[in-house]
Amino acid sequence: MHFDRAATLARLRAAAPFATDVLILGGGINGAGLLRELALNGVDALLADKADFASGATSASSRMIHGGLRYLENGEFRLVRESLHERNRLLKNAPHAVRPLPTTIPIFSRWSGLANAAQKFFSASEKPSKRGAVLIKIGLTLYDLFAGRDRVLPRHRFSSRAAALRKRPQLHPGIVCTATYYDAWVALPERLCLELIDDACALHPGAQALNYCGAVRTEGGDVVLRDAESGAELRVRPRAVVNATGAWIDLAGAALGEKTAFIGGTKGSHLVLDHPALLAATQGEELYF
Ligand SMILES: Cc1cc2nc3c(=O)[nH]c(=O)nc-3n(C[C@H](O)[C@H](O)[C@H](O)COP(=O)(O)OP(=O)(O)OC[C@H]3O[C@@H](n4cnc5c(N)ncnc54)[C@H](O)[C@@H]3O)c2cc1C
Repeated sequence: MHFDRAATLARLRAAAPFATDVLILGGGINGAGLLRELALNGVDALLADKADFASGATSASSRMIHGGLRYLENGEFRLVRESLHERNRLLKNAPHAVRPLPTTIPIFSRWSGLANAAQKFFSASEKPSKRGAVLIKIGLTLYDLFAGRDRVLPRHRFSSRAAALRKRPQLHPGIVCTATYYDAWVALPERLCLELIDDACALHPGAQALNYCGAVRTEGGDVVLRDAESGAELRVRPRAVVNATGAWIDLAGAALGEKTAFIGGTKGSHLVLDHPALLAATQGEELYF
């Protein structure tokens, strides 16, 4: 590891206030990625997290690296194109952490969902719809197209009902066919996050990282951090502050004297099953349920 908490704390204590170009609050994937970008550009930065690195949403995600297929229905083409580009870059830059994920959609009709999708596209409907084979074909063709010329994953394919049931006899017998397309997954996003921080500190001596040290207030242009272990306060004098605290953005902002209300409440749930037969039936792929 190229970062050492005790050594960074000692540097901060000795300087009082510790001067740096950028103070990044929040050591999730966004803060870590930014630290590395700044290090690549030779910009000094201190990354501080009030808890452990990657302990927020970064470790609570569904671990999918996807381009957002369902956003196509809302006409968010630019978002999908950008997400697919990022997905491809992750597959290329971090193949030890990010793996291809074949994803299969069981399909129960050929034509349904077209009218609803058109309405949704023109913002006339928020109703969810059952998507038929034709609509899924259009969506997956666009998805492949937006993945760009630097193709890193195979194109989508359809399987007939007979072939799909031969491969997975446990599928619902009412299917008319299945479609399989490719996305990606990351088993350990925490590892990716730590690697970005480590990379930054190895690349540039002006890159520092400190966990268990959150921003608590400002004092005459300095930001005061509190060491959660000792309770000691440390003063940092940055030229710019980046609030990358995710769901805590308003709270961290308030500590810095910025009153915002970006977060209106959010919740995600995962259902984790200990079900060996179901796991075997997925055959290592993702399946729409
Ligand atoms: C249920 C769920 C499932 C998801 N699934 C996926 C998925 O499959 N694929 C995908 O790409 N995305 C997914 N996401 C979204 C993804 O998890 C987030 O976009 C991403 O992790 C946000 O990272 P972040 O760095 O902005 O925030 P976080 O990882 O939350 O990091 C914020 C950090 O700020 C720190 N902090 C808070 N206050 C302070 C302070 N005052 N001073 C210093 N530090 C502070 C916290 O300790 C925390 O570590 C999912 C999200 C949820 C909720």
